[in-house]
Amino acid sequence: MGIIGKTPEDCTVACWRPAELGEERSAHDLGRELLTGLPDDAINIGFEAVDRHVEQGHGDQIALIWLSKTEGRTAISYRDLADMSSRFANLLYAHGLTKGARVFVAMGRRPELYAAALGTLKAGMVFTPLFAAFGPEPIRTRMEIGDANVLVTTKSLYKRKIAAWRKDIPSLQLVLIVGDDAPEGCLALGPALEDTSSDFQAIPTQPEDPALIHFTSGTTGKPKGAVHVHEAVLYHAMSGRYALELQPGVTYWCTADPGWVTGTTYGIISPLVNRVTMIVDEAEFNLDRWYGILQQEQVAIWYSAPTAIRMMMRAGKEATEGFDFSALQFLASVGEPLNPEAVIWSNEVFGLPFHDNWWQTETGGIMIANTRAQDIKPGSMGKPMPGIHAGIVEKDNGGLREMNDGEIGELALRPGWPSMMRTYLHEQARYDKCFQDGWYLSGDLAMRDADGYFWFVGRADDLIKSSGHLIGPFEVESALIEHDSVAEAAAIGIPDETAGEVVKAYVTLNPGQTPSEELERDIRGLARKRLGAAVAPREIVFRESLPKTRSGKIMRRLLKARELGLPEGDISTLEVDEK
Ligand code: ATP
Ligand code: MG
Repeated sequence: MGIIGKTPEDCTVACWRPAELGEERSAHDLGRELLTGLPDDAINIGFEAVDRHVEQGHGDQIALIWLSKTEGRTAISYRDLADMSSRFANLLYAHGLTKGARVFVAMGRRPELYAAALGTLKAGMVFTPLFAAFGPEPIRTRMEIGDANVLVTTKSLYKRKIAAWRKDIPSLQLVLIVGDDAPEGCLALGPALEDTSSDFQAIPTQPEDPALIHFTSGTTGKPKGAVHVHEAVLYHAMSGRYALELQPGVTYWCTADPGWVTGTTYGIISPLVNRVTMIVDEAEFNLDRWYGILQQEQVAIWYSAPTAIRMMMRAGKEATEGFDFSALQFLASVGEPLNPEAVIWSNEVFGLPFHDNWWQTETGGIMIANTRAQDIKPGSMGKPMPGIHAGIVEKDNGGLREMNDGEIGELALRPGWPSMMRTYLHEQARYDKCFQDGWYLSGDLAMRDADGYFWFVGRADDLIKSSGHLIGPFEVESALIEHDSVAEAAAIGIPDETAGEVVKAYVTLNPGQTPSEELERDIRGLARKRLGAAVAPREIVFRESLPKTRSGKIMRRLLKARELGLPEGDISTLEVDEK
């Protein structure tokens, strides 16, 4: 696969060159440089995201454009957002909550969610967003694990999902209901905010004060609650600037929900800290609506995920006709490996490639990225961010051995960047196991090439071992979706007497395609040509949909458990099931 050249000369947005940035500078230092006026003795994410801009004379700039499902378009300035979040912070204190209290939110993407996030942070309390679409049980267990003190939700969600067990969570002191009226025992947020003062000074939190708890996506098992601290804002600032080109004043749209870490780090904090105008769409994925938003809002920078990109590809280029995407300047993707096919497709359709980047709930920010400063090798995650040292390691005699370029091993990072998680809630031993010999072990397998680009191979749990070959599902899946009929694919290993394991693949088809034995043979034929007989799937089955988490990740472990007749494990984050 060729290289897509986007050298600095092509840059129309920020564009930076690693050498100009200073190759050896720390992530702390690069973040500090962007947060002008940051005091020496305190650091508060909420203050840096909104109040700072108002103090520095940018209160009138639009911070957030809310596109409601039913109420049209609302533009909210930095001053309005500072005001709303200050009221929220005052409200928490008025109800007896104190620094460190845990504030959970389970609601759709409405302005109150953003005010609650920022108000909680300004109040020095800890913010945890949950997907509104979670069922009662996932909401309850996460609130239990997180010792929730406050919940912000809607009347309908409260009645359907929370009222029945609310009393079983003794730590829960206050339930705030968005809107003008509330069920018994809850407080209506609308009037409560109006009655509260908008005069609030952000709490001078310390770098190590807890700020956020994020639950992981649950792709590989039971979700873990990763704790992040206020100092993380240094990394939110610099990674947004250097990986996503977030510059003051640009229009930016992150399609992720805050219930997934991407929707908080890069859907709330990083864009606001970098003083962009961000789009918040309340609706779920809908292609026409999305293309319409890109055009009408003149979105310049767009951050999305492979699952959405594959849906666009499935609808075809025809679906983009009649839309004007000329405002777009930079596209990025995260969450799953981005198939080379998708990079090339977007380059054709939007005139711009999607830039893949890699990170985790645990890392709190983008670690490896295709940035504007380097050419893209489609299928690669890119290179480590400035200030980040990544390596490929292997367990060897109880220690870790750093591997050579071209060898597959576990992707590891040298700890110490500001947005690194500080613990897993109530699971200190599991947290400790992530560190060895001065490395943080990601649990993902990857390879670095001679040019320093990193290539995702698969999650350590998903690796397939067949006749002495190590096979990453991503490689197999990328080859399968090169077939004109295939929309998505998932590959797993199933036991085999002679080979140890053989590859089995599940695929969904593009519209207008029907499953048949002939098609299966044809797809297998292409896979054999691309991958060789040892790596190509032995069997391909057709599905209407693949099981996915709410953050859009294919749950290979579920396919495997079902294949082997094993227990399904934790499926609290399952959104779409296999059909
Ligand atoms: P859990 O840890 O609960 O199993 P999860 O790992 O899916 O869930 P997240 O923290 O949301 O939870 O996702 C991080 C993981 O997503 C990474 O470890 C990696 O496996 C995958 N991922 C993220 N970005 C990319 C990417 N650009 N390419 C390949 N994989 C990616
Ligand atoms: Mg994980």
